[in-house]
Amino acid sequence: MILPLPELPNFDYLRPKSYQQVSELLHQQPEDARPFMGGTDLFVQMRDRTVAPKILIDVKHLPGMTSIEYDHFIGLRLGAAVNMNAVTKHPEVIKYFPLIVEAANSVASYQLRNRATIGGNICNASPAADMAPTLLILDANLIVVGLNGERVTPANDFFLAPGVNALEPGELLKRIEIPTPPQSWKGKYLKLGRNAAGDLAIAGVAVIGFPDRTSESGYRFRIALSSVAPTPIRAFKAEEVLSRGPITGERIEAAAIAAQDTCQPIDDVRASGNYRKEMVKVLTRRALGEVWAAVQKGG
Ligand SMILES: Cc1cc2nc3c(=O)[nH]c(=O)nc-3n(C[C@H](O)[C@H](O)[C@H](O)COP(=O)(O)OP(=O)(O)OC[C@H]3O[C@@H](n4cnc5c(N)ncnc54)[C@H](O)[C@@H]3O)c2cc1C
Repeated sequence: MILPLPELPNFDYLRPKSYQQVSELLHQQPEDARPFMGGTDLFVQMRDRTVAPKILIDVKHLPGMTSIEYDHFIGLRLGAAVNMNAVTKHPEVIKYFPLIVEAANSVASYQLRNRATIGGNICNASPAADMAPTLLILDANLIVVGLNGERVTPANDFFLAPGVNALEPGELLKRIEIPTPPQSWKGKYLKLGRNAAGDLAIAGVAVIGFPDRTSESGYRFRIALSSVAPTPIRAFKAEEVLSRGPITGERIEAAAIAAQDTCQPIDDVRASGNYRKEMVKVLTRRALGEVWAAVQKGG
């Protein structure tokens, strides 16, 4: 027997014109009011009755929320409500941040990517968020606005627990700022899902590599993982392994094992923890191999 999906519970819809109004509403009604943008996480959770906000505040029309700006010296600024398809089609993102395009294209389906926003992906704070590893290794800063104005929080400090982020009551995410990456950097995001496309990650690995004279190997790598710990995480031990001496197949293998040791995956409907651990090793080895080949090739 096919059971009908439950309906969304009733809620009030508000569309304030200023960040100040949103912050005041969120501050006054911390239990009942929730911001939303694409709704692709929030509406599913409401339908499943895991959250029950009485007031939904549409924030995607606020000034700057959908803007994409690039400056060669400053880097990339993405409004929180920029959706996945918008970022993958932007000429300067394609040219200077192909890793962001790769990560955004790995989310769900084309149709869903018209709604799903980058800010929503990280505010939802799922361990499986596909944009998170890339933002971690690109050292993104999150511009958050609340009753007392704006503050900056590094993406690396944002994810606290499954579904829990570092926003204080009354705060919302306004913008994501990605500094210009180190010269000659290359990157890769590899995601394993149950299907070729359209599924959350069983495991995801993002890697960047670039020349760096301060490292013993002459190169520096940054690695982050999704869906294999309570939050998206950096694999710092693996990064360190790659800085200690010449980059060889053995060193890449040692780094892949270090990344595997870093993760603490759970068993769930998508995969067992043991399988995830194995896949972290495989994906890290593969991503590092691709990034290392690209770094050596230059260009
Ligand atoms: C069929 C399907 C497939 C999916 N596949 C993937 C996938 O492959 N990979 C993946 O990573 N995700 C996937 N998702 C999850 C989801 O689509 C993404 O996480 C999406 O990017 C969320 O963005 P949104 O704008 O829809 O967020 P919303 O649902 O609008 O919001 C998400 C959360 O963030 C909060 N929030 C929204 N805006 C703000 C703000 N400005 N400041 C503070 N908090 C805010 C909301 O209150 C809510 O808690 C999938 C979802 C579905 C339904």
